[in-house]
Amino acid sequence: MLLAALFLVGTTAVPVAAQTRLEFTEIHMAMSVRIVVYAQDGPDAREAVRAAFRRVVELEDILSHFRPQSELRRLEAAAPGEWVRVGPELLHVLGVALGVAEATGGAFDPTVGPLVELWREAREAGRSPAPEELDAARARTGWHRVELDTTLSAARLTRSGIRFDLGGAAKGYILEAALSELSARGFPRALVEAGGDLVVGEPPPGRPGWRVAVPGADPELAERASRLTGAALATSGADARHLEVEGVRHTHIIDPRTGLGVTHGYTAHVIAADAATADALATALSVLGPEGLALVRQRFPGVQASVLGPAPGRLGRACPTPDGG
Ligand code: AMP
Ligand code: MG
Repeated sequence: MLLAALFLVGTTAVPVAAQTRLEFTEIHMAMSVRIVVYAQDGPDAREAVRAAFRRVVELEDILSHFRPQSELRRLEAAAPGEWVRVGPELLHVLGVALGVAEATGGAFDPTVGPLVELWREAREAGRSPAPEELDAARARTGWHRVELDTTLSAARLTRSGIRFDLGGAAKGYILEAALSELSARGFPRALVEAGGDLVVGEPPPGRPGWRVAVPGADPELAERASRLTGAALATSGADARHLEVEGVRHTHIIDPRTGLGVTHGYTAHVIAADAATADALATALSVLGPEGLALVRQRFPGVQASVLGPAPGRLGRACPTPDGG
């Protein structure tokens, strides 16, 4: 009994019995970001959670294409061919994004910005983009026009007019960074979640993992999600943002190879150790559908993936639901 009560957890040196489930939610990246942490409630835990949310804010300032002053937008503004120094965060997310772009034959493309913008305007105006508008936007898209030098921590674009959109990969990275902040401050038993993506650290006390339900997913993936530890689970697919053209729903996810909003309504789930990779692969699979699964398994060993559907016109995602302990 005494031994069990004195059992120490990780680096926190807090008896398991003193750890309670704490939950905090803030709005960032235009969505609810939720942190669940098992810790002894007190100033240290609360400061760690505040620091984790601060990390989210910092990274949004670096990676968001919605922020005119972000590092990402400054990279776009550089003259073609000019190397621009980038920080480790942008270098990592761009590296993952370009790797997934290459592996998926451009189904995932971090330069999809002009097309996303065009489809957003089309949705707002309730009309499909004109063919010449699509051509112009496609001409400004292309992951192979971005080059990275990881030794120098620099990036360059080989043509003008590139518009990044890291919306498909950066969220995972940002959630993981928040989790790392908690862990570094002695609170590794944590989960961070936003918009259907989540990352988990060490499991809740006395449990083999976090219980995350992924309705309908491939049994192997669902099994792993039911006791998830030290991994990211990303979800991507059909949701409420869509444009109806001739009775067909085009979602906010674009197939960069055609320039068209995806219509098939697949929902993809991916579990990976690296959260940006999970996030990008889930977006890629929501473009590729089940045909992309073999490719993902071959190119990304250790990654688990599942594709549900097709469900043409389906609204609402099959979101994973973490019980949070
Ligand atoms: P996610 O929810 O992670 O699938 O990300 C969806 C977001 O990724 C969209 O709202 C766009 O900002 C961006 N996006 C859309 N299509 C693509 C694509 N084919 N490749 C990369 N990013 C995309
Ligand atoms: Mg994604």
